[in-house]
Amino acid sequence: MVKYSVVIPVYNEALVIRETYKRLKRVMGQTDGSYELLFVNDGSEDETLDMLKELAVRDDTVKYLDFSRNFGHQIAITAGMDYASGEAIVIIDADLQDPPELILEMIEKWKEGYDVVYAKRIKRKGETFFKKATAYAFYRLLRAATEMDIPLDTGDFRLIDRKVRDQLVGMRERSRFVRGLVSWVGFKQTAIEYERDERFAGETKYPLKKMIRFSLDGITSFSYKPLKLASLLGFLLSVVSAIWMIVVLYLKLFTHSTVTGWSSLVMAVLFFNGVVLIMLGVIGEYIGRIYDEVKQRPLYILKEGWGVGHEKEKVSYYVE
Ligand code: UDP
Ligand code: MG
Repeated sequence: MVKYSVVIPVYNEALVIRETYKRLKRVMGQTDGSYELLFVNDGSEDETLDMLKELAVRDDTVKYLDFSRNFGHQIAITAGMDYASGEAIVIIDADLQDPPELILEMIEKWKEGYDVVYAKRIKRKGETFFKKATAYAFYRLLRAATEMDIPLDTGDFRLIDRKVRDQLVGMRERSRFVRGLVSWVGFKQTAIEYERDERFAGETKYPLKKMIRFSLDGITSFSYKPLKLASLLGFLLSVVSAIWMIVVLYLKLFTHSTVTGWSSLVMAVLFFNGVVLIMLGVIGEYIGRIYDEVKQRPLYILKEGWGVGHEKEKVSYYVE
């Protein structure tokens, strides 16, 4: 058992990993207890794993998990928490956008008795306008969609107490939105504010496709509102249709103007079909996730672990 665990998900981060290691070492050296740096290699295709091995051989505090393929950032965090042995666990990105120095501040708060200390971004540096705008919109949309209090502009950079971790480990849902789960768990939570730095090197590992999937996971995992909205829309459109039918019937029975109107007919057909397909899509998002859940596949598969588990040796095993 160590006092502090730092969980770092890494996916193709060969360009930053040494610097991250250095900065984390410097910070964790200033803490009052033992610590481990637990890297989770999320199926990197570059030299990330070799570098981790190099560090792990030299330094006892470095441990790692190696996935059999890329399972995604949220799953990597989950695996890190599964294997973290610390009394307090810090989750941090590898790219140094989250300044490691803040960990000391988080630890202070933890000692004051908080169980979750999350870091709220008051500014984001060096990110594209598109990223900032979509992130801004996403956090507000999420807030509007869910009844739960998920803090705005807050990523996964946070410290959690072991008892919160123990609860999270018991939640094996597949469409994972870890920050939502942490809010759901409750306990005593507080925020510290920070300015998000630029990526140290390399490019974002969150292309648009992953971002969309991530936001849909967040919203569908914590809200039925899209489904409610679909039924409300359906209801409203039925009312409109009913009125429209009465008008059409009136025109047919009492006037001679029924031959014209081809354009409006085509528009109506296209519009209603569009709406129906969108609603089916919304339902599909939920059904797909239900399907994923019932299959009960493991969240991730480990190829290898170093320094984790019961014995401090290289171990190979499958989880769950
Ligand atoms: N990451 C991961 N698996 C993925 C994508 C990202 O483990 O499939 C890691 C990545 O290495 C980094 C963190 O998750 O440590 C956040 O990713 P990134 O900095 O690219 O996201 P952004 O800050 O651009 O949102
Ligand atoms: Mg980043």
